[in-house]
Amino acid sequence: MAAITGKQFLDRLQKNPPTLYIDGERITDPTTHPSTRNMCQSLAGLYDLQHQPDLKDALTYEDGGERHAISFMVPRSKDDLRRIGEAHHLRANYSLGFLGRAPDYMNANVMAAGMGADYFGQCDASRPGTANRDFAANMRRYYEHVRDNDLCLTHALTNPQVNRAKQASEMPDPYIALGVVEETDEGVIVRGARMMATLPIADEILVFPSTVLKENADKSRYAMGFGIPTNTPGLSFQCREPIDVGRDPEDHPLASRFDEQDAFVIFDDVLVPWERVFLLYDTELANKAYAGTDAVLHMAYQVVSLKIAKTEAFLGTAQSIVDAIGSGQFQHVQSKVAEIIVMLEIMKGLEVAAREGATLNQYGVMTPARGPLDAARNYYPANHARLPELLQLLGASGIIMMPSKADREGPLGPQIAKYLQAGRATAEERLKLFRLAWDMSMSSFAGRQTLYERYFFGDPIRMHSALYEVFDKQPYVERIHAFLEREDKREPVAADD
Ligand SMILES: Cc1cc2nc3c(=O)[nH]c(=O)nc-3n(C[C@H](O)[C@H](O)[C@H](O)COP(=O)(O)OP(=O)(O)OC[C@H]3O[C@@H](n4cnc5c(N)ncnc54)[C@H](O)[C@@H]3O)c2cc1C
Repeated sequence: MAAITGKQFLDRLQKNPPTLYIDGERITDPTTHPSTRNMCQSLAGLYDLQHQPDLKDALTYEDGGERHAISFMVPRSKDDLRRIGEAHHLRANYSLGFLGRAPDYMNANVMAAGMGADYFGQCDASRPGTANRDFAANMRRYYEHVRDNDLCLTHALTNPQVNRAKQASEMPDPYIALGVVEETDEGVIVRGARMMATLPIADEILVFPSTVLKENADKSRYAMGFGIPTNTPGLSFQCREPIDVGRDPEDHPLASRFDEQDAFVIFDDVLVPWERVFLLYDTELANKAYAGTDAVLHMAYQVVSLKIAKTEAFLGTAQSIVDAIGSGQFQHVQSKVAEIIVMLEIMKGLEVAAREGATLNQYGVMTPARGPLDAARNYYPANHARLPELLQLLGASGIIMMPSKADREGPLGPQIAKYLQAGRATAEERLKLFRLAWDMSMSSFAGRQTLYERYFFGDPIRMHSALYEVFDKQPYVERIHAFLEREDKREPVAADD
């Protein structure tokens, strides 16, 4: 099998549903449950895009006689990166950039990890030559497995909060954080929990080596990497309260389509087969896995296109509000829209710089430049919250006084049509627009998006520290010292008599 259709995705999910719990209930069929079915349909729509005749060539590529989703393609040149980037944009626009975890994100992860599989072969616990412990071969095969079946993946990297002053091993129970309990002939038994997995409505979960392990013991039980089906026995996903509350898409245009869900993941003595283990006990290798395989850069490249799509959506919505209510003549209104334009152009510039500065890495993969991507993933979380704020400031009361579709069709319909019309739009057009603006800036959906943008790529504080550590500041320091020590020759100037 190669690039799948929406129907194939839904059928597969129905046959192998992840073990999801919502509001104390086990969801036996996410494709029909009211809290998850709309999201499943949106994902199906995304899979169908790759079969749309006018998009097929842009969204898939051929390899070994099969067509695969282009986010699995190994870029060997800047042109390949450009092609992948264009596909990321097309798919990001499907959700106006509000679907944080379209499968493309994790596809980029497994592509880079699969190509950098030798990294995992360095792991102490791997035994190349012993078929089921050859972690490099396992990683390579996993990439092919995910690509060939066009699987949808979720992932979970961090340990439960509990007590950030303590190491995982110092918690009240050593298996609050996910750890290895024992090895068997079939694989490793793992127990504990991971925070947190966005899009648990997925075929498999990738527990990629976390970047935050502090244990220094040679054989840390918390250092691991593996990928298993989301319906593996002993594995459960406790979801947060749904944001899709079954309202008409006209009333909740984003929440009714793109509630991707977030879950914390419980591993109750889960058996991970050896052939699915990529790393074990090696803390140092676990901590550097994202950087060591460049997976973080390929994921960030996808993320940048998503954030551009989102910023474009804010710009389009802001200007539509301004047009509708005729406020574009006011200077501060122009300035607020200009703020969004500046943000958009910064992100677009960083994307181009990442692509044009790309180089072949040690595994022969054309890899976007780190500097611009590090800038983007530090800049956007720090500035995103201004986007919903700007919509609130531009929309004012219009963004809260929005009778629903049922209200428009109810006894006060004629009055709503009269009093809630806009200078350049009917009440229906205006309310649809303001409903979208509300879902982007005020609703529960918007609130979750704001938190997501702050944290999904990691703690912004620690990301800043990491940037401080890796960025080579020395040339700039030296330039300043050279300037301070420079003795310019100055010709004495004769004083005017
Ligand atoms: C909506 C959403 C979706 C997410 N989706 C995913 C996902 O799909 N997969 C995934 O793996 N993760 C996901 N995450 C988790 C994300 O990676 C974490 O939120 C992030 O790494 C921060 O970790 P934490 O939430 O445990 O916060 P904590 O680490 O507990 O931090 C809480 C506060 O304490 C501070 N703090 C804690 N420790 C330190 C320290 N050592 N130094 C300085 N300050 C510190 C932080 O700065 C912060 O202010 C998601 C998060 C959100 C909010």
